[in-house]
Amino acid sequence: MAYKAEYIWIDGAEPTHKLRSKTKILADGEEPGVWGFDGSSTNQAEGETSDCVLKPAFICPDPIRGGANKLVMCEVLLPGTNKPHSTNSRAALAVVAKKYAKHEAWFGIEQEYTFFEGARPLGWPERGFPAPQFGYYCGVGADEIFGREIVEAHSDACIAAGLAISGTNAEVMPAQWEFQIGPVGPLEVADQMWVARWLLYRIAEDFGVTATLNPKPVAGDWNGAGAHTNFSTIEMREADNAWDYIDGACKALGEKVMEHVQNYGAGIEQRLTGRHETAPWNKFSYGVSNRAASIRIPWQVGVDRKGYIEDRRPNANMDPYTVVRLITDTVCSSFAKGVAKAPAPKKAAARK
Ligand code: ADP
Ligand code: MN
Ligand code: MN
Ligand code: MN
Repeated sequence: MAYKAEYIWIDGAEPTHKLRSKTKILADGEEPGVWGFDGSSTNQAEGETSDCVLKPAFICPDPIRGGANKLVMCEVLLPGTNKPHSTNSRAALAVVAKKYAKHEAWFGIEQEYTFFEGARPLGWPERGFPAPQFGYYCGVGADEIFGREIVEAHSDACIAAGLAISGTNAEVMPAQWEFQIGPVGPLEVADQMWVARWLLYRIAEDFGVTATLNPKPVAGDWNGAGAHTNFSTIEMREADNAWDYIDGACKALGEKVMEHVQNYGAGIEQRLTGRHETAPWNKFSYGVSNRAASIRIPWQVGVDRKGYIEDRRPNANMDPYTVVRLITDTVCSSFAKGVAKAPAPKKAAARK
């Protein structure tokens, strides 16, 4: 029997690209091949030369339609050339991932997002505001939790699609949530994150709700939405001097602050204010267990002196192809020059 392949791609919307998709009916057993779309409707081409090419990059089962149906995450190419379109950030990541493959980079991305119903966050009162932030993070109960049924449907769908989803939690601001993908390799985490985002929008649609990656969806004393990016290489995980590599990775990131921050999602200055568990966007810092630093070394990693680091700066609306490329490139190119002996980790400040 024929089946449906949902071709998903990233458009040319500014300042933040968004997802588009359309359906192709394929014969039983036919593999999803190259396809095309009208780039003049997606800010990717002029009307006279409007064709853009969709090349399948990552294919998985479609958990919404079920059966033999598939989701097909694509990259956009220029017609007749096989060259990446200017909006295609995957191509540059593929080059960097291959160049540094021997470092066996792993990424785990924490995607925060906010549900909206109409103009208000889901469950917020018609007038005024909910009670100030406190009980919502990992809360339970109808007075604190809004949209759990959507979160459950989304995580079930990610599992059925075979994505490396590793958890979900309710966030500090009511109607704000998080899911994590990883740890997996650079291309895998980014492809899967884009598919997981598409599934989130698509599933929320059936509930009459929108999900937004807006990094500061409500102004004022409400947490913004980030995409903490956890990262390790085989040296950081396994070398006898793994701690030197962990410290070296932090130092390397500290030498390219602006190049990273400018590519970590539009509106980053509004979110990285130095309040609400963030460090100021233009000041670099790192430390064990420090959630007010740019880079946090998890407490257990400080104890083991091996493991991974968490770049807390990326916005929820970041492009994972770009963030993963920058971190891989900055850290692995610095490892090629060798790492210095690092001082023993400072003990994290005891909890009050
Ligand atoms: P947080 O305490 O910051 O909320 P989470 O549990 O939400 O942390 O996310 C931690 C992330 O770190 C997960 O996505 C997980 O996949 C990822 N992770 C765990 N180990 C590694 C590793 N060695 N390298 C890269 N990422 C890792
Ligand atoms: Mn988290
Ligand atoms: Mn979080
Ligand atoms: Mn985190």
